[in-house]
Amino acid sequence: MHKIMEEMRAIRVRNTIENLRRNNMEAQYVPTAADALAALKSYLTPGCTIGVGGSVTLDEIGAIDLFRSGDYAFLDRYAPALTPAEIKDIYRRSLWADVYVMSANAITENGELYNVDGRSNRVAALLYGPDSVVVIAGVNKIVSDIDEAIHRHKTAAAPANAARLHCNTPCVRTGKCVSMMRQGEDSMCAGCASEDRICANYVVSARQREAGRIKVILVGDALGF
Ligand code: SF4
Repeated sequence: MHKIMEEMRAIRVRNTIENLRRNNMEAQYVPTAADALAALKSYLTPGCTIGVGGSVTLDEIGAIDLFRSGDYAFLDRYAPALTPAEIKDIYRRSLWADVYVMSANAITENGELYNVDGRSNRVAALLYGPDSVVVIAGVNKIVSDIDEAIHRHKTAAAPANAARLHCNTPCVRTGKCVSMMRQGEDSMCAGCASEDRICANYVVSARQREAGRIKVILVGDALGF
């Protein structure tokens, strides 16, 4: 990356961290995925219960392997041969985990988290339940403001996640939300009528009442969608 672009990126990261802290979230920057795993570990205690939101980022930094190490009580939604009822039970128990770990669809320079869920187990745990929520995101998820977060979700995060989850939605075929193709109908909540729609609840996390409950680890590597 050109030196000037590196400087611009550093300013963006600094602004984001300052504003997340202003919004009562802990925030730190780490350069690499390996550093992110070490930072995540610092928020865990032996034997703590851990729930996770669906995330490519967590896989990429090795978090799922860490949780399965035996040092923690991992509520493993990815364990083989789980029945739908067992997965649902894990989602529910995750709402009372000691630590909930997830990524974000976007993080604004204004210090806000933007997340959109279909089933909404992830945003439910973000909002209330676990005493501690750790959000890990690559700097590729940083956007200027909520408008840009909405755009990022509709043109990058949602289509990629819908494809990952093998959903039969228009965005999987076109690479962007169907609402982007209907003039005047591209508002935040506009979208498809598919049975597989992954966009149901749109959550902006701004200034938190409980200081430090949400911890954000921003990673220099590009991670996730
Ligand atoms: S509303 Fe439908 S088409 Fe739009 S991003 Fe969500 S799943 Fe894709």
